[in-house]
Amino acid sequence: MRSGDTIFATASGYGRAAVCLIRISGSESRTILERMAGVLPQPRRAALKVLRDPSSGEPLDQALVLWMPGPNSFTGEDQAELHIHGGLATRAAVLRSLSSFENCRAAEAGEFTRRAFLNGRMDLAQVEGLADIIDAETEAQRRQAMLQLEGRLGDASERWRENILLVLALLEASLDFSDEGDVPEDLEADILRRLGLLEKELAKVLENRSGERLREGLTVVLAGPPNAGKSTLLNALARRDVAIVSPIAGTTRDLIEVHCDLGGLPVVIVDTAGLRESGDLIEQEGVARARARAGAADLVLWLIPPEGPVTEPPSARRVLRVGTKADLDRGRPGCDLLISAASGEGIPELIRRLEEEAEAALGQADAIVTRERHRKAVERAHLSLVGARKMLESGGPVELAAEEVRLASRAVGEITGRVDVEHVLDRLFSSFCIGK
Ligand code: GDP
Repeated sequence: MRSGDTIFATASGYGRAAVCLIRISGSESRTILERMAGVLPQPRRAALKVLRDPSSGEPLDQALVLWMPGPNSFTGEDQAELHIHGGLATRAAVLRSLSSFENCRAAEAGEFTRRAFLNGRMDLAQVEGLADIIDAETEAQRRQAMLQLEGRLGDASERWRENILLVLALLEASLDFSDEGDVPEDLEADILRRLGLLEKELAKVLENRSGERLREGLTVVLAGPPNAGKSTLLNALARRDVAIVSPIAGTTRDLIEVHCDLGGLPVVIVDTAGLRESGDLIEQEGVARARARAGAADLVLWLIPPEGPVTEPPSARRVLRVGTKADLDRGRPGCDLLISAASGEGIPELIRRLEEEAEAALGQADAIVTRERHRKAVERAHLSLVGARKMLESGGPVELAAEEVRLASRAVGEITGRVDVEHVLDRLFSSFCIGK
């Protein structure tokens, strides 16, 4: 990958469509527009042009073209956009013409955004917010991603960093004093007070896990003996055929996930293999996975069929006991809810309960931290600040306390990418789609 190349990619997805958007970024953008569209349009003004092959002059398509000179563009470089017709042959012809330019090549996944980051157009937290906007499946996820794109996490971590650097400056001042004799008491008290406040704020941020949960969705695991009606219920809930419904026990050997939008909140429903001891190795693996997934879930729907056996549900945070096949048998003591996926009885009530669970767990999501990467950085910063405070309180060397505070500032700096974060970049950007 050469960073000096001009890159291009389809940004509007694949397949036949009315319009296809091709993005171009880099120093050749101007030449490309001039050679293919004839003239350079006014900056940031759409113009209708005939696009021509640069070597043969053959017309390729009629397109709306845009010229966005750097640095005020998404990537910070000279950029162009071609809104061509979305036919497969048209797209192929235009892309072929683009690759015929020197130092011009197809972009790699996430390369446009990577350039935007490297040119200081957005920080890392915003890059992640952008990725989350593209992945958002529900309204609440979209709102959270938008706040991150607007800089909520970036602003907070910059504020933490500034406060940490202030403590560092005070520590360095106290070092100067200790060279000369005694450190003034109120200076030391001020440092400890500031450290304490920062510590408390970061601890509060770490306590709130709703951001990560909202990104991932509330996990609801369907568990129960084989033939309890798990797959049938999943289909009824998802209103589409995602799991194999079969009267033969043990057909759902792997986990099947369905992403649902319940009242704007994301709920992931997981169908597990029948929880039953089995001699079949593949089925045993399925049962092991089912137990692990149930243990990590926010809620387990423990399905109890009329014929039993009523074994104990797997250990889980919360369990709702649901009697299935109510059309066959209504007498099921010990169930929280009776349903019939066949007749539809009890399904609206079950959906209402799920909506309540999602609302309780995710409805008030106001977390700043939305990914494990942020959490790890805040955790490290918090640990270092605690270390620094303890060091000072026990009369330890101020130099070592200052080093801890420096580590804390580095850790929060990683959130926005203000410090060297080369190791996280490759992983982050490769998760983007081409053209982003
Ligand atoms: P799983 O092994 O728990 O996933 O169970 P399935 O969903 O595959 O269902 C097992 C059998 O029970 C199938 O023959 C279903 O058609 C049947 N079944 C599922 N739900 C109901 C229901 O509400 N009423 C009746 N009568 N049969 C059902």
